[in-house]
Amino acid sequence: MSDTSANSVEINDALFCQHFKEVCAVCSFDGREENDAFFGFDPIDREGLEAPPSSVNKEGQHQCKKHGSTACSQCYGWKKQITRARTAAKKAGKKSS
Ligand SMILES: [Zn+2]
Ligand SMILES: [Zn+2]
Repeated sequence: MSDTSANSVEINDALFCQHFKEVCAVCSFDGREENDAFFGFDPIDREGLEAPPSSVNKEGQHQCKKHGSTACSQCYGWKKQITRARTAAKKAGKKSS
């Protein structure tokens, strides 16, 4: 069990810390495992994602500043970004546990 939910924000179904990082040393947050599992991947040691600048809309949901969308496929296309990070991690020879 982790207590990641307390200070986390959810953006288009992915979890980030309050600094909009998937992995953050400041608040010892690591949302990779949950995000990988959510998007159907086996968690591996990969680079953490970072959410682009966002604002909060009337419903309290985060939307990208660039396009004003809470489910922006460009800014919040996590599945694509996770896939990219996984490929990079595998290329770098990090071992998946
Ligand atoms: Zn943080
Ligand atoms: Zn966007």
